[in-house]
Amino acid sequence: MVRYTVIPVQPDAHLFSVACSVVLTDGAARLGQVFSLPAWIPGSYMIREFSRNVVEIRAEVRAKSRAPVQQIELTKLDKHSWRSAPCQGTLTIIATIYAWDLSVRGAHLDSTHGFFNGASLFLRVIGHEEEPHVLDLRRPPGRIGSDWRVATTLNELNAPRYGFGTYRASNYDELIDHPVEMGEFKLGKFKAHGVPHEIAITGKVPRLDIERICADLQCVCETQIALFEPKTFRAPFNRYMFLVMAVGDGYGGLEHRASTALICKRDDLPSTVPAMTYAPSEGYQSFLGLASHEYFHSWNVKRIKPAVFAPYTLENEAYTRLLWIFEGFTSYYDDLLLLRSGLIEVPQYLNQLEKTIQNVLQGSGRKKQSVAESSFDAWIKYYRQDENAPNAIVSYYTKGALVALAIDLHIRHVSGGRRSLDDVMRLLWVRFGRDFYPTNARGLNEDEFPAIVREATGITMKRQIDDWAYGTSDLPLVRLLKRAGVDMSRVAGAIRPTLGAKIASGNECRLAQVHDGGAAQQSGLSAGDLLVALDGLRITASNLDALLTRYAIGDTVQIHAFRRDELMVFEVALTESGHGSYKLTCLEKSPGLRLRRAWLGA
Ligand code: ZN
Repeated sequence: MVRYTVIPVQPDAHLFSVACSVVLTDGAARLGQVFSLPAWIPGSYMIREFSRNVVEIRAEVRAKSRAPVQQIELTKLDKHSWRSAPCQGTLTIIATIYAWDLSVRGAHLDSTHGFFNGASLFLRVIGHEEEPHVLDLRRPPGRIGSDWRVATTLNELNAPRYGFGTYRASNYDELIDHPVEMGEFKLGKFKAHGVPHEIAITGKVPRLDIERICADLQCVCETQIALFEPKTFRAPFNRYMFLVMAVGDGYGGLEHRASTALICKRDDLPSTVPAMTYAPSEGYQSFLGLASHEYFHSWNVKRIKPAVFAPYTLENEAYTRLLWIFEGFTSYYDDLLLLRSGLIEVPQYLNQLEKTIQNVLQGSGRKKQSVAESSFDAWIKYYRQDENAPNAIVSYYTKGALVALAIDLHIRHVSGGRRSLDDVMRLLWVRFGRDFYPTNARGLNEDEFPAIVREATGITMKRQIDDWAYGTSDLPLVRLLKRAGVDMSRVAGAIRPTLGAKIASGNECRLAQVHDGGAAQQSGLSAGDLLVALDGLRITASNLDALLTRYAIGDTVQIHAFRRDELMVFEVALTESGHGSYKLTCLEKSPGLRLRRAWLGA
């Protein structure tokens, strides 16, 4: 058994004290015991090297239960591993860990709250990973935290619900898959198909309408449970929790087996002030979409997973070409399930889809990288985007969602509406999730997906999947959508002269990105350049568009810009704006009407 004690020892200095104890085996007593912190956290495919936040670390041993404690030498082996000197008895490693990363992936501690993912705090005891793990969670010493409660889906061992005390996990993998929030959060509760669900919201949100959030999330959760288990309505967990951090500006989520950690904008959450209309605001819709996305991951990636994630190798990258299935399909379903839950209507759904299409088609990176390559290189590209990202990479989220759409529409068309991507998801669930998790877990092999599609639907899609997921040509969305009674066309009004660049946020007109083949790039302007004048008139971030409306495509303008501290002059021939925007419209009379009803509802 491995025992941990976590104390938010100095909240104002953002320091957790984490102790980890294990009774040494004979082998470890002879050779020393190795401990290691993960290099990455599952769900976020980037090497983060959590050990960089270890401020101090030491080891002590107690040979017998009454024996005095002895300090033991600890040798650092590599960037995230340590080995104790040979010794006997119970070995304890005590680390002080800095926690000031306000994200869903790390750990954060101050006088208002504490949050952590186990991957940030819990040293893995090599060789003991499959043993039961016990966590003793303590209140901060001193005055801070006397009103704090605990929100986590870890099983209580000897702790009241929402209280400090001991929690247990059957192994290390489980221990680090239940994030922990401690503080004065607001708590909402609801049931989805009989399973208790909770939402804990941290951060100041005046007049928060938590009842409404619970009612809306219940619709989403029940719709998702019914998608995977249409006969039994059985959820894959016996309790689920949304851990939400509300901030002035922020957005993100990370999935776990029975919970999710979310960061959202305070203004995206509904308020009890009656002015709020029933239709969700754009911000609230994006919050619901995020919650829906992470909840869908409970099946797709937490239980149905790529073979290389079963089990995870936490010391280095776990490469897969399949994130377009695990993230892309999840992105396709997150909004679609809001529609199926009745929380948004068809026009709002199509509006979201337009944005996704726009997002994919505006980057020339889609011509150079497939979503399979994007998945594989997530570690060095998608998660480490620089100013050249739109020219070099494609998102396995957005294009992956469109691949899911294309596969779904193709299956619906060929099967005459009798089959859909839902059938594929259900077969994946039965084959890799439902009966096998967490014991006997086997993941989806890299080349196994086309066979699953065929088995679930009777349709051979190897060629299309090769084209769409492993190729770089644009998806045949116009044709596929038309068959489902939806017209996709380019909005003519959107064609106007541009620099072919993205402006950084702020008052100055600084180029954040320069797009391939655009006016800025052709004239020699670069990302980072500070534009100061256009044909002798001062440019700011807010007046650039207005200035450009006085010109036509093909006109040449003179731009003065600073590169570093050197003033330079560029002759810029204005080009038309990338791809314009796309509009999706439901066709009134279309042979695809029946298909559209099955896909989008009435
Ligand atoms: Zn995701």
